[in-house]
Parts: sequence; C-alpha cells; structure tokens
Amino acid sequence: MSFDYNVLVIDPMTGLPIGACDHHQWFERYIVNTDDFRTLNYALNPSINMRAPINGFDAVQIWIAEEPIQSTDPVYGWQVVVDPNRVEEVDGQNTSFYKIVFNQPVRIVLPLIEVSYITQQPYCMKCSGLGSLNDFKIGSSGTPGHVTQVTKLVQKALKWVLTSQDPFYPPFTCAIKDYVGRKFGLQITETDVQTEVMNALSNMQQVQQAQGTVQTLDPQEILKDIVSVTVTPDPNDPTSLFVSPIISNYSGQTAPIGFTLRTNQ
Ligand SMILES: [Zn+2]
Repeated sequence: MSFDYNVLVIDPMTGLPIGACDHHQWFERYIVNTDDFRTLNYALNPSINMRAPINGFDAVQIWIAEEPIQSTDPVYGWQVVVDPNRVEEVDGQNTSFYKIVFNQPVRIVLPLIEVSYITQQPYCMKCSGLGSLNDFKIGSSGTPGHVTQVTKLVQKALKWVLTSQDPFYPPFTCAIKDYVGRKFGLQITETDVQTEVMNALSNMQQVQQAQGTVQTLDPQEILKDIVSVTVTPDPNDPTSLFVSPIISNYSGQTAPIGFTLRTNQ
C-alpha cells in the first residue's frame, strides 16, 4: 500500500523542476511523559522528546484527538522549551533540540497528540533530508523563496485534494487519502477518484471566494474553473492511477495538477 504524490516536479509556468522542501513535519504522534505529566515524548521512541529539532516556534501546531490546541488553552496550554539534554552534531554544527511542555500537568489519558512543525533538512521526513520537494521553489539566486501565482494555485489545489485532514475546515476534506489500501476496481473506481477530486476543488473554490471578501488574492492564485479531471489506469501497472486535473485561474491561465494514486492489488 502506498500513496504517492509525485507531483509538481515541474513548474507549470516555466517547465523547470520545482525546488526545495519546506521541511514541514505533519502530524507526528506524541505521548505525555508519565513522570511529570507535562512533557511530550515521541510516541515511536518515548526515550526522546521531539523526533527532530524545531525550526521556528511560530509554526508549531498541536492537536489533541484531532482538535487544534492553542498554546494559550486554559487546560492544555503548552510551550516550547530548550531540551538541555540533547544537542546533536550534524555537518559539523551543533543543533539544539526543544521539547513541548504542557503548562499544567495533564493526567487524563490523551488518546492522540499530534504535532506539526518545521525542522531542519537533515531531520526532514518529508524530503528524507534531500531538500527537494514541492513547497518552495529555487529562485534565480539559488535561495528558496515562497511560491506565488500559478504555482501557488496548483500547490493549494493539490493540498485540498491530497490532505484529507483539515482541522480548520472539517467538512472540507477529500477522501482520496482514504482510498489508500483499497482494491482498485472492486472497492474504488475511476469515477470515485474523479468525484472526490471534483468535490475537493469545488470546496477550495468556495473557500477562496469567501476569502476574497476579506482579503485580496492574486487573480493568478484563485481557482476559476475545474476544466477537466481525467483518471487513467497506468497501462504498465494495474494498481496505479494517473490523476490529471486541469484548472484555470482569473488571469486566463490553465494549469495541470497531476499525481499518481497507487492502490492495493
Ligand atoms: Zn524537507
């Protein structure tokens, strides 16, 4: 079973490869330390606190039982503090680690604590430390910059389609991710995939239209029409589907968004 999104390797406008990973780690699982009932330990290896160093406190987000928890929450409020016991040397440089600590002891059993944060490249699970993925592109100077315009639109659209969990818009999720591990042809069909992609993109359209009333979006970044959504089985691999939607923006441009969905045999 796998869920491949080999997407946006190519910038739709320039035809050039798209650059660097943002090293954003999503929904890592943590548990509360049973000695102090305050500090988070990495669920897959409770002898450590954070799996990877935190790069920027502002991007740290926590969910408990899929509910987002603000750092100021009266019960589950939390802070990020230096982990004095852990400094690791990578590429000749000492890297400090941090840990997340609840302000007050949390003694109830918390079923699922998830943490998202930005880390540093050598610790990134998203790009496996390689540095290249699809959230940023390399500018002409060689330094990573934020994506804009059509590339941003394409990337946003992909996030709507591929991210089935969005705590801030719970009804706007896409079932594509739930298709992982199903049997193609029996439990899911091309039409299911097509329908889900269409739904996700129309949700995005609605949210963007609502956003447009409070903030100015670049016309190139606004989804105008879902031009087409084609779903084709890979002729060489019966478990893979090529999903190729085409969308347009308010600058009269169209852009392809594509990914491969791999199902069970
Ligand atoms: Zn990365």
